[in-house]
Amino acid sequence: MTAHPQLGTEPEQPQPGAGADGARGRALIARLREIVGAEHVFTHPHQLRTYASDGLLQYSQHPAAAVVPGDAAEVAAVVRACHEAEVPWVARGSGSGLSGGALPVEDGILVALTRMNRILEVDLPNQRVVCEPGVTNIAISQAVGPGHFYPPDPSSQIICSIGGNVAENSGGAHCFKYGFTTNYVTGLKVVLHDGEQIEIGGKEPDGPGYDLLGAFVGSEGTLGVATEITVRVVPSPEAKRTLVAFFPSPAHAGRVVSDVVRGGIIPGAMEIMDQMSLRASEQMANAGWPTDVGAALLAELDGSEDACEAGFERLREICESHEASEIKVASDEAERAQMWHMRKAAFPAMGRLASHYYVQDGVIPRTKLPEVLDRIDALAEQYDLRVANVFHAGDGNLHPLVCYDANQEGEAERAEELAGEIIVACVEAGGSITGEHGVGVDKKRYMPKMFSEADLSAFQKLRCAFDPNGRTNPGKVMPTPRLCGEVPGPYRQHPLEQAGLAERF
Ligand SMILES: Cc1cc2nc3c(=O)[nH]c(=O)nc-3n(C[C@H](O)[C@H](O)[C@H](O)COP(=O)(O)OP(=O)(O)OC[C@H]3O[C@@H](n4cnc5c(N)ncnc54)[C@H](O)[C@@H]3O)c2cc1C
Repeated sequence: MTAHPQLGTEPEQPQPGAGADGARGRALIARLREIVGAEHVFTHPHQLRTYASDGLLQYSQHPAAAVVPGDAAEVAAVVRACHEAEVPWVARGSGSGLSGGALPVEDGILVALTRMNRILEVDLPNQRVVCEPGVTNIAISQAVGPGHFYPPDPSSQIICSIGGNVAENSGGAHCFKYGFTTNYVTGLKVVLHDGEQIEIGGKEPDGPGYDLLGAFVGSEGTLGVATEITVRVVPSPEAKRTLVAFFPSPAHAGRVVSDVVRGGIIPGAMEIMDQMSLRASEQMANAGWPTDVGAALLAELDGSEDACEAGFERLREICESHEASEIKVASDEAERAQMWHMRKAAFPAMGRLASHYYVQDGVIPRTKLPEVLDRIDALAEQYDLRVANVFHAGDGNLHPLVCYDANQEGEAERAEELAGEIIVACVEAGGSITGEHGVGVDKKRYMPKMFSEADLSAFQKLRCAFDPNGRTNPGKVMPTPRLCGEVPGPYRQHPLEQAGLAERF
């Protein structure tokens, strides 16, 4: 994090946070218009509203300008211009992130990658797809289907970009068996903080040298901007068997998950929804699922016909042994799609039960599921708020949805505090502060709960190697403001803190 000259505002279009250095800011915006074309630079407050938040609407900030480059050369020129003007910038894909990762910096530049949505190459003999960062996740599977598919499948896959997936190391329902984004990215072209372009990896599975791919995937836009991405696709399974089973409580469904894994069965996906999320989804998806049960477990086996059949029978037996009141089996693709529609509707459908909600994302060891769910129930009661639970059960990745009404005095603050307590409960249970939505601005205060000062210093050294001036998505991920080169040690107040511009959590 570092101070930066203020961009200022074009006089005819006043914007929030206009600073003193207006002439310099106008010069940068004029330069950006030359690079990408005036029609792809937005500075009016009405236009900037689109870019002010990502999916975490609790945070909002207008940038000085949103710029939408059309190719990698334009991205590099935009970033170089920001570097020369000493102005911070933030990359943005589809803006579906849930941790404020794409939140703009006041008076900075937002670089939106939505125009870069071309699939550049489908190389099925080598099982690779090369694409621009603005391509949606689902478009990759559509480009190679039906014989192949791209396994990491965030529930937001119809809108989220592969660039955002790379930055967040996104997961999804099928990641328990298939792995996360990091397991599928083999090559990247990246624009660095000063506009320089580098290539990391390629189509080969494991390139020589430092594993910069591993460092970049999950770096939340703080190490540069990906302008070309090569991913691995895999052959589609021969068969799929999908069922949903209903239980008296999420703990019962959780015990099924433990027994399934212990029994050596590896389903493609195992998702649990509690009663509240079932009620919300049923209103939207109308699947005819019971809404008076405690929980539903959606499980899908995939692989060869024989392996699927054998595993499926065992799965049913385990469900029955844990008091399943009903088991529905998808008899065709339409029924399977309806089951997944119910699950994927859970987040958006929550809007039918509450005017506002906060999506939390934490991980716990699978075996701690009943204990942590009890703790969440107790916290909900203590804070007098409702919490729905939906989770990728195989990975122990919880998504508690904390419902509140922002129009009621103090409820938003209570909801945020409760969401924080849930994260602390996950860490105390031996888990993590995020499973797949990233740290962003939302979770950075919890980083010291998971990492020591020495761990955080190592992260900071890597970040500084890529972003020595602290202008690439500043204020995200790292919990404490620290300039590159600043020596870690006993806490001393940073000049930005003294000036009231940054705070320490
Ligand atoms: C309804 C709903 C369901 C969701 N379900 C899931 C789920 O199941 N699993 C899951 O993992 N997530 C899920 N998410 C969260 C979100 O969709 C993912 O984090 C997704 O990867 C974000 O992609 P995006 O294109 O919207 O990125 P953005 O929100 O635009 O950006 C996210 C981060 O990536 C950075 N970034 C974007 N593009 C680039 C680039 N080209 N180069 C470098 N950095 C870049 C940004 O700076 C930011 O830090 C869900 C969100 C919603 C709204």
